[in-house]
Parts: sequence; structure tokens; C-alpha cells
Amino acid sequence: MTDTTPSKASNFIEQIIMDDLTSGRVEKIRTRFPPEPNGYLHIGHAKSICLNFGLAEQFGGTCNLRFDDTNPEKEEEEYVNSIMEDVSWLGFKWDRLCYASDYFQQFYEWALELIRDGKAYVDHQSADEIRETRGTLTRPGKNSPYRERTVEENLSLFESMKRGEIEEGACVLRAKIDMANPNLNMRDPVLYRIMHRDHLRTGGEWCIYPMYDFAHGYEDAIEGVTHSICTLEFEDHRPLYDWLIDNVSVPSRPRQYEFARLNLTYTVMSKRLLLILVNEGLVSGWNDPRMPTISGIRRRGYTPSAIRAFCREIGVAKANSMVDIEFLHHVIREELNSDAKRVMAVLEPLKVVIENYPEGKTEMIEAENNPERPEDGTRQLPFSRELYIEREDFMEEPPKKFFRLSPGKEVRLKHAYLITCTEVIKNEEGEVVELRCVYDPESRGGEAPDGRRVKGTLHWVSAAHGERAEVRLYDHLFTRRDMSDLEEGKTFRDYINPDSLRTLKNCILEPGLGAASPRERFQFLRQGYFCADRDSTPDRPVFNRTVALKDSWAKTVQKDQTN
Ligand code: ATP
Ligand code: MG
Repeated sequence: MTDTTPSKASNFIEQIIMDDLTSGRVEKIRTRFPPEPNGYLHIGHAKSICLNFGLAEQFGGTCNLRFDDTNPEKEEEEYVNSIMEDVSWLGFKWDRLCYASDYFQQFYEWALELIRDGKAYVDHQSADEIRETRGTLTRPGKNSPYRERTVEENLSLFESMKRGEIEEGACVLRAKIDMANPNLNMRDPVLYRIMHRDHLRTGGEWCIYPMYDFAHGYEDAIEGVTHSICTLEFEDHRPLYDWLIDNVSVPSRPRQYEFARLNLTYTVMSKRLLLILVNEGLVSGWNDPRMPTISGIRRRGYTPSAIRAFCREIGVAKANSMVDIEFLHHVIREELNSDAKRVMAVLEPLKVVIENYPEGKTEMIEAENNPERPEDGTRQLPFSRELYIEREDFMEEPPKKFFRLSPGKEVRLKHAYLITCTEVIKNEEGEVVELRCVYDPESRGGEAPDGRRVKGTLHWVSAAHGERAEVRLYDHLFTRRDMSDLEEGKTFRDYINPDSLRTLKNCILEPGLGAASPRERFQFLRQGYFCADRDSTPDRPVFNRTVALKDSWAKTVQKDQTN
């Protein structure tokens, strides 16, 4: 064991690995992350990435990135590239970059080995017949009429399948195990199917393609994977995984372990459904900031460290569960709370004119960048006679506990002065379009010289100096908390949240913000955490709200603890 090896396991897989290293069953661990390149990765994949790469790092082993590209139908180069980008962005380095398709010849030879040993046969039943004769949990299946074909006949038929002499769907290669096995996966599973289709990497070389179950363990065996970690739904496939490994001459013997997949509230987490959202234009693309994809979350302003922290915190267990999406928000909020620069931005502006402030004057006001980190210093903000404040910070007829601005009331402008509203200007429709105020010149810094109490503090931007921007506010993509359990007769489309995106086009940012890069993250005072979008240009800045300030997750937990 290396020095980096932890002394205490924090989950059952770590425990298994520590036992294997101690007993000498395994000298050095090797894991893999094996996505099928049929879509962009999502936050559920991040859990698997953090687990596989994390274990390798922790125990001085290695982890491969392997494209499980055995189905030419849905796989695309764009997905291959996005997957490499996402894994790297999360901060992990693969040992080897592998493609299952590189092993097609070896898979084929192992299929021949099974046939020669009388452990596989070519079945001419239709897909429907195979399904119907499979039996149920309480009823055994029925043997195929083709099950007793001779080895010679099977070899010759499989050869014809491979040479492209047989049409798609006419026959398949099946394992010959046991049609009465209590585990349905062991009832002569299909190993190979005919697909007259070009493959991304092998082109027209093959027209028979292995099934996932057949290929996966062999991929692990070829790469010397010691711990093949997958999600819980494959637990019932493990006997088949082992059977396939046990019945041909593999170079190494991998073992499969299963953990619970990540489910998030208000979220669907399947590439198939995410692809529908993209194809039907229900979102702007795979990297729409509302998507649970890694690229979407990245664009939304999440950091790799926050995603890794989230995966660490949710842990690894053997029972399926649902993680509250507020917890994901909580983790990034915590990180941004300590790191993000505080700035002022007015999302829905209302003009304020300070009548007793000299016309044409601009003074610079010092503002701290981050109260959590004094070492981040201060900046100078221009203050002048005309400003913008947030429209919702003014009410003409306020209720009792409204401490913001209203006629005759005094409030503090953050870092600057106290102002009092003296007049409300309306347009013909009766909407408030401007406020006239007076300021107290002795209150610079925001303190009243006579110590009078002023409760409200508002953010503001000088009208002449502010930069106009578009700001996008996001909400859950779906309205239902548990998207894995829909009401009868409904589909996921019935739960799409029509208000998941709110675009504000006339926001005013403090000067300099328009030039921010998408990697810079800010707290817009009193509003939340934001980052520039990839659509942003200095002429037309666009910001995404990563997460609002209010932490409903922390509140819930506190409440639970005090109850
Ligand atoms: P999807 O259903 O979204 O298409 P998948 O499991 O088919 O997902 P793969 O490309 O086969 O996608 O996944 C690669 C790896 O990521 C697998 O080992 C899989 O178990 C793991 N994985 C996929 N979804 C999750 C999830 N929600 N939580 C944890 N791990 C996951
Ligand atoms: Mg899949």
C-alpha cells in the first residue's frame, strides 16, 4: 500500500479495496469510467467519475476512461469530445483512453470459444419469440428449437452473420446457460446481434455487434480492471458477468461491485430523456444552464471543486435514494460565499435623482470586495446625482415591516449615503418611473452623523456609469419533486416548468463587470451568485444566476435539527 492509502474506509467500496490490498488479492487497483458516447454526461455521471477516479487516486492505482461504444446506432463524435472535456474539467486524469470497439476482434474470438465449448448458439427465433419464451419470475422459460444446433452448425452460422450474409434481425447469438434459472438474465441471454450499420471508429468492418452484458466484463478483463464499479441495476447481471468471465480464457479476472445511482429532486437524469429535451427545443442545448448535464452546470457557474464536494458529501451507498437539489445549490453557495467578489447590479432598475447632489459631480466611493476575505481588498465605485435602485426596493404604500424606500422614508445606499424619498414621478399609466430624493452629505459611508437609526440598505448603480446587461434567472426544469415516480398516464413532458427561465434585459451593472469572463463569479449584492454566460460580449453582457442567496436547504436542516 502507498502512503496515500487512507486508514479508515468511508464507504463499503473503500472497505472492499482495503481488504483486497491487505489480503494481497490485488496489488494495485485499476478502475474505469465507461460511458457510452450517446449523449452528454450529467451530474449522475459525475458521481461515478468522482468515485472511480477518486478511488484510484486515493489508493495509488489508475483509472481508465473507456468509451463503451458497442452500439453504432446512437453514438457520435461530438459526445466523445464532450465527455473528455467534462472529465478533464472535473479535474481528473485518465491513465489510458480506451474504446471498447478496439476489442471487437477479441470479443469475436471469445464468442467462438463459447460456441466451440457448446456454450453459445445461433438462434433464429424472432425478438418477440425470444421475449415470449423467456418466462417470468415465477415461470421458467422455454428452450429455443435452435438450442441443440451442433457446434459446427453454430460456427458456420456465426461466420455467416459476421460476413454480412444474414439480414438484420434474422438471428442472434445466445449463451447456452439455463432457461429455468431463477435469474432472468441467465436464461440464455443474447450475446451478439446483426446490425448492418457503420460504426464511428470501425466503419463497415463489422456487422455483428456485442450486447452490453457480453462486452462489459471482457472490456474490464482486457484492461486489467480490478474493481468494476457500476450502478445498482446491474446487480442482477453480476452472475452473467461472472459466467462470461469464467467461461473463456481472459487475461485477468475483474470483479463487479454495485452502488446506488444519484437521483436529484426536480430533475430527470437519463441521457435518453435529456436528448428529447434537446431535440425538441425544450432547452437551448445540452449545455443549457437548466440542464443537469456537466456542461450545463458548468455554464450555470458551478465549479469543479463544488461538484466534487457535492459528490463527496452525498457519499456512496447500496440503497437508492433521492438527493434534494437544494443540497447541490447549498454546496456551490457555500463555496461562492467564501470566494466570490461582491458587486452591485440592479436587475429591474428604477431611476433615483438626488436633488441636493451637485449636477455633473462624480465622487469615488470605496467598497470592500469580500467581507469574508478582507485580503481581497476594495474597489472604487462612482457615485453621482442619478442612480438606479431595484424597482422592488420601493413601495408607494408600504406594509408595516417594509424597511426599504417609500415616500418620506430614509434608507442607506450601500457604502455611500443616506437618502430620503421626497417625490414620486409617474407616467400616464400611473406607473412609478422615477423617484426624487435628498441625501444627507454628512452620512458618507452610510452612517447617520446624529446616530439616528436607518434600517434598510439598498444596492445601487450610478446611472451615467452603469453597464447595461441581460440577466437570466433559472428555476427547476420540472415541477415535480420526484420525477422517477409520475402520476398515471403522464409523461415527463407534463411536468416541464414553464417558468424555468426568466430573462431580464435591462439590468444595470456596476462599471467594469461587462468585461467579465465566464470563469469569473460574483455575488450580486442581495440577489445571488452570478457568472458571465458564454454568450456574453463587452457590448452586450449576459449573466447567469448560478444560485440565489437564500439557502432553503440549510434552513430545512436547521429546522429538522431543532424539532
Ligand atoms: P443514462 O441512463 O443517463 O444513459 P447510463 O448508465 O446509460 O446513463 P453510461 O454512459 O452507461 O450511462 O454511464 C457510464 C457510467 O456512469 C456507468 O458506470 C453508470 O453506472 C454511471 N452512471 C450513470 N448514471 C448514473 C447516476 N445517475 N448515478 C451514478 N452513476 C451513474
Ligand atoms: Mg446506457
